[in-house]
Amino acid sequence: MNQFALFREHPQLIYFDSAATCQVPDVVMQAFTDYYQQHHANVHRASHQLGRAATSALETARSTLASFIGASAANVALLPSTTAALNGLAQQVPVKWQAGDEILLSTAEHHANILPWQRLANEHQLILRYIPIDPETGDLGDWQALLNERTRVVSITAASNITGALFSITPLLLAAQARGAWTIVDAAQAAAHTSIQVTELHCDALVFSTHKVYSVNGCAVVYLSDALRDSMAPFQVGGGIVQRVTFTEAEFIDGIHKFEAGSPNTAAAVAAATAVTWLQKQKDVAHLAQLRQQLVRELHQRPWLTVLPSGAHATPTVAFYSDAFQAFDIAAWLDQHQIAVRAGHHCAQLLLQQWQLPAVVRVSLGAYNTASQITRFLETLDAGWALFGSD
Ligand code: PMP
Repeated sequence: MNQFALFREHPQLIYFDSAATCQVPDVVMQAFTDYYQQHHANVHRASHQLGRAATSALETARSTLASFIGASAANVALLPSTTAALNGLAQQVPVKWQAGDEILLSTAEHHANILPWQRLANEHQLILRYIPIDPETGDLGDWQALLNERTRVVSITAASNITGALFSITPLLLAAQARGAWTIVDAAQAAAHTSIQVTELHCDALVFSTHKVYSVNGCAVVYLSDALRDSMAPFQVGGGIVQRVTFTEAEFIDGIHKFEAGSPNTAAAVAAATAVTWLQKQKDVAHLAQLRQQLVRELHQRPWLTVLPSGAHATPTVAFYSDAFQAFDIAAWLDQHQIAVRAGHHCAQLLLQQWQLPAVVRVSLGAYNTASQITRFLETLDAGWALFGSD
């Protein structure tokens, strides 16, 4: 807690919205500020020392972020967000689309991993298939029958941003690759809570935004396998990625930098590298799992609440709803007591549609949360029930 300026300033604030964005520790803010105060310049081709220092800061950050997911720097592009990366992938994934080709997603996808594929499907008359999420267990449902010889892309989240369920996706990715489909993993929710080794996952692309791993906005780590990197066109074109430009066309550079047209957000990359180094030093994994257990156990004891199932393994995110109150009313009540949770469909409407649920309340924990905060949260919920719900 004392590593976060926000909580020093507001010690009574309970921040339970880390799945949306994490608060940023001092060490990360310091790295961000140091970069702007000491090394800031535009990168690449700079014919001065400061430009070379900025280039080196960007490339060092890339290496640190790559090793965080067991990748080589040559396979990691740094883009502004998961949303930007998934849009780019959907537009450029190297498939000669034919009407009737299929893309396989799950119903637990965030809209960032649905809408780019829907747009593509509408352009080429493709079929989108969705793996259901088991309403009893919260785990990934049967996918075997949904994967077939027309499947060209499987794009799937490693964890639900609503229930927290961490899905066992490797068998699916292996089967998809064996059928020649490109495999893409949205790791936005998983990155802070599991140790990711891209080579063991059998994915061709993996993406996460670094504001979900205790860093600033404006940076996403985008892993691309050699095969995908080398056969895919740049997502955007512009400065920094060309070999040669004529009046009518251009030749692009090879390698990972071809995905980074324009001036990069070097400060965000530097901050992100500092954040993952900080995160790896935190011994918070067991602590957060225990807090989650405490929270789920307690919520289950309140018959006026229903907790969504979250599979065999989960991130420290929990969702619930009540037949007695609207989710937004619960969130507003908590907000009045300085407890920040999120209510709604959480940009993942398909899961709630599949399960026929109303808007839900989501509690998502981070490194700064404590057992006494869970207790205060539950007491506040109970006070609301006593006041408005019990008759
Ligand atoms: N996918 C998942 C699973 C997410 O939770 C989010 C963020 N809520 C995104 C994608 C989109 O990330 P961003 O808003 O950083 O682009």
